[in-house]
Amino acid sequence: YRRVDEDEIALLEPDLAGRFRRGLFFPGEAHLDPRRAMAALHEKLAGSGVEFRFGVDARHVTGFDREIDCMGMASGDERLRGVRGEMLILRTPDISLSRPVRLLHPRLPLYLAPRADHHFMAGATMVESLSTEPVTVRAMMELLNAAYSVHPAFGEAAIVETGVGIRPAFSDNLPRVEAHGRTVAINGLYRHGFLLAPAMARRAADLVFASDKPVELADETDGQRRSA
Ligand SMILES: Cc1cc2nc3c(=O)[nH]c(=O)nc-3n(C[C@H](O)[C@H](O)[C@H](O)COP(=O)(O)OP(=O)(O)OC[C@H]3O[C@@H](n4cnc5c(N)ncnc54)[C@H](O)[C@@H]3O)c2cc1C
Repeated sequence: YRRVDEDEIALLEPDLAGRFRRGLFFPGEAHLDPRRAMAALHEKLAGSGVEFRFGVDARHVTGFDREIDCMGMASGDERLRGVRGEMLILRTPDISLSRPVRLLHPRLPLYLAPRADHHFMAGATMVESLSTEPVTVRAMMELLNAAYSVHPAFGEAAIVETGVGIRPAFSDNLPRVEAHGRTVAINGLYRHGFLLAPAMARRAADLVFASDKPVELADETDGQRRSA
């Protein structure tokens, strides 16, 4: 990142002009809308012949050579813990942001991510809990306070959605891609499932296709030779 002052903040995000004296700018950062990304991925894969079955319990589906287990908390991996996250979707035409803005605050590490049609995602809490109960009053207050302190225009925004999710996490908060026989398990994506998905998918594909290679080829790739 690069340290930026008030003038550069105003150049990068004109609606934040005069609101903050210092900031950290990550020039290489990108963002996406996960719902639109999922819909686009589905459309692309379905278009290339991938069959999707919704509403099916994957544990009862058999007959495949390989399985990729990405059931999150439901995978039953006892090493996983759940980290509850609460978020809000706000709508206001009174402010525009062109990139996610994070508040560097010891108690309120909030981010506001712009979405289409004047929507913003305000997120996200981190609570060591498996509860999927609706957003708490405390979380709502903290998220709204933080949004309001980024820009008072959020005081007039509509709260169009609240949401709760459980992030599957290992004790070190790092994801794992592991082969167990014919199954490859991808899990522990914690706060970064979307960010890390391409790298994790690549690792899973490498594991699947490495184990599909004939023995001789796999041996050469590994730099090892077996006599059989
Ligand atoms: C509020 C919040 C904000 C977040 N923000 C970000 C962000 O900005 N950037 C980012 O990269 N990540 C973010 N994350 C984290 C991201 O959502 C997770 O890392 C990601 O969802 C983990 O993906 P997963 O596929 O491993 O698990 P999950 O998303 O939990 O998916 C598991 C899937 O398996 C399905 N399933 C379970 N059991 C079965 C079964 N028996 N049969 C068939 N299907 C089954 C479930 O229905 C579910 O669809 C956020 C999370 C939360 C809660």
